[in-house]
Amino acid sequence: MRPLDPRLLTYARVTRKFLVASVIIGTAIALLAVVQAFALAGIITEVFQAGAGLAEVTDAIWVLVAVILARVALSYLAEVVANSTAAKAKSQLRTALLDHVMKLGPVWLARRGEGELAALTTRGINALDAYYARYLPMLVLAVTVPIVGGVTILTQDLLAAVIVALTLPLIPVFMVLVGLYTKGRVDRQWRTLGVLSGHFLDVVAGLPTLAVFGRAKAQAANIRRIGDAYRVATLRVLRVSFLSSLVLELLATLSVALIAVSIGLRLVEGNFTLYAGLVVLILAPEVYLPLRMVGANFHAAAEGLGAAEGVFEVLDTEPPATGSRTDVPDPSRVGIEIRDLSVEYADRGAPALDGFSGQIAPGRMTALVGPSGSGKTTLLNVLLGFVQPNSGEVRIGDVDLAELDPDAWRAHVAYVPQRPRLLSMSLRDNVALGAPDADDDRIVAALTAAGATDVLDSLPDGLDTPLGEGGHGLSVGQQRRVAVARALLRDAPLVLLDEPTAALDVATEADVLAAVKEHARGRTVVVVAHRTSLAELADDVVVVPETGAIRVVE
Ligand code: ADP
Ligand code: MG
Repeated sequence: MRPLDPRLLTYARVTRKFLVASVIIGTAIALLAVVQAFALAGIITEVFQAGAGLAEVTDAIWVLVAVILARVALSYLAEVVANSTAAKAKSQLRTALLDHVMKLGPVWLARRGEGELAALTTRGINALDAYYARYLPMLVLAVTVPIVGGVTILTQDLLAAVIVALTLPLIPVFMVLVGLYTKGRVDRQWRTLGVLSGHFLDVVAGLPTLAVFGRAKAQAANIRRIGDAYRVATLRVLRVSFLSSLVLELLATLSVALIAVSIGLRLVEGNFTLYAGLVVLILAPEVYLPLRMVGANFHAAAEGLGAAEGVFEVLDTEPPATGSRTDVPDPSRVGIEIRDLSVEYADRGAPALDGFSGQIAPGRMTALVGPSGSGKTTLLNVLLGFVQPNSGEVRIGDVDLAELDPDAWRAHVAYVPQRPRLLSMSLRDNVALGAPDADDDRIVAALTAAGATDVLDSLPDGLDTPLGEGGHGLSVGQQRRVAVARALLRDAPLVLLDEPTAALDVATEADVLAAVKEHARGRTVVVVAHRTSLAELADDVVVVPETGAIRVVE
């Protein structure tokens, strides 16, 4: 693990300024330590050797007090700077991470695991606090103080300087050894936590199912097992961390003792001044302190660095290449042509779509039908730009979809996914998600068209009723109709509906689709239909067969 990952400077830009500030503060602290040593040594020699009274050393005492106060003030300043930097760096990393995840898209996210990513963005990035507040400033001090202190000792006593020069490098050498040994352990600790978070989210989401099938207890045991593994991994890291602090502490203490003994012997022989001896003795522990602190704080910082590495790994994942054209043709006026489209998911043997071709006529309703797993959802994901086809192309009029800027293109699209998600906000805000300035009349009209009037009537505060996360409080069928209303309200020229009526009975389904067709008149509507009876309502039917050959039924 590198003490300072250069990617941190790129992705969390405040780190640069922070380093500059730390070097300035660190140098000042080092210089103050030297002044303090001289002042203290001066006072002691005056009083003990020259027999000076309080009046004669008052000035020196004031200097000492001023130096100590200045050191306190500087430490305070360093603390403030470090904590505010940590807050900014964390927020910069989180923003960068979320932006990048948006670019990578929902298909990537589903594969990567939401639980682990959630742990990374929250707890993981938070662990950087220790890195910024305790580790980096010490790292800077570990350079400035030994240089300034070491040179000062050299001016006073060659032998002590040699001892410092020989023993000081041992500390970083030990730290590197310990770091090499720790890295695997910290990584393991992180991986276990990721598994734990993912597993926990799964279990919570599937709790009703697990309870009905009598598996809840077994899952609890499972979580306990992973939790135990995490505890063991954490304790291992802690054990190494305590042991290594001990070693560093011992090394520093012995080195200072060595210097003290050599000075003591020469003082007894009388070939060394008390003043120089005191300066060296007072400075010596100060020289070792920052390096020792770096060692002690390394493990606290390692967790943050480990998490940061997870973040960089996501940030370094190339998002799919996207086009940049913003002159998007109006999909309600030009047809969409799908030519020879093949899509293969990375971890699947068989392609999800294999040489599929088809046409979607503008301003009409096209039903996509086909057996489950034939690739209908995949086709919509390609149309949305979430999935890049392995070969083949989608043409919007005479423009290749791959050349279009994804955001500009999606501004023309309304979409109801196969598993729609309602957000934790009021029903009004949920419906008006894609059309923020719609008035209540239009919202109610959209809900009516989607056959969701019963949802509106059943909620205590009507449009103002807050919905829980994931549409909690509404049935699956109700959530889906609200999602359809949301898509209709958006007024987009292309409407993609993935099995919008899956949880509805046949009669309501026909009503909803007829209303959708009426409401979306003039727009291009593509609806994935799981029942062939629906196909009769559509203007065109495109079959997505498992082999991917095209059949169009008028
Ligand atoms: P449909 O919507 O027609 O039921 P899908 O497009 O969802 O079919 O899936 C087509 C095939 O691709 C299936 O075999 C499915 O297992 C696979 N598939 C779908 N999504 C993914 C994904 N994100 N990662 C890997 N394989 C996937
Ligand atoms: Mg599907």
